Amino acid sequence: MSGNSKIEWTDATWNPVRGCTKISPGCAHCYAETFAERFRAVPGHPFEFGFDLRLVPEKLGDPIRWSKPKKIFVNSMSDLFHDGVPDEYIEKVCRVMMAANWHTYQVLTKRPDRMAALLKGKLRSAANAPHIWWGVSVENRKQGLPRIEKLRCAKPVVAFLSMATLNAF
Ligand code: SF4
Repeated sequence: MSGNSKIEWTDATWNPVRGCTKISPGCAHCYAETFAERFRAVPGHPFEFGFDLRLVPEKLGDPIRWSKPKKIFVNSMSDLFHDGVPDEYIEKVCRVMMAANWHTYQVLTKRPDRMAALLKGKLRSAANAPHIWWGVSVENRKQGLPRIEKLRCAKPVVAFLSMATLNAF
């Protein structure tokens, strides 16, 4: 999934990682999993391996090739801060975002602990970049307030929330 997007709050999706595993109740009806699993075992399809987590280094350079400025949802089909994604690979993704700085990037996670730890350390320069937005999914009070707190502590220049439901607030 890349290039133009039908998601109303972004222009394009960029997936240098594909696949994920569930981490909270909000993952129960993961659209990415449903989409990816439809293509499992289809030879040559980007989701030939279904929703299994894998790095896609050949996609790393996509934003550099897109000359027109776009709002880009990073890893619409995964979670950049999944345990299976090495720090070094996340740093590579950030280096691309820093280099292709004519775009705006939206990085959304359900794994705020790792995101916050990296933003406070190795990824500080990316946290300070106004063209990179860092966000967490807020599902309800239990799966929301701690994530917001982690994001707040990481102090990115631009932070955002994806509010899945407000029922439990
Ligand atoms: S974290 Fe996101 S991509 Fe991963 S399983 Fe949950 S909803 Fe799907």
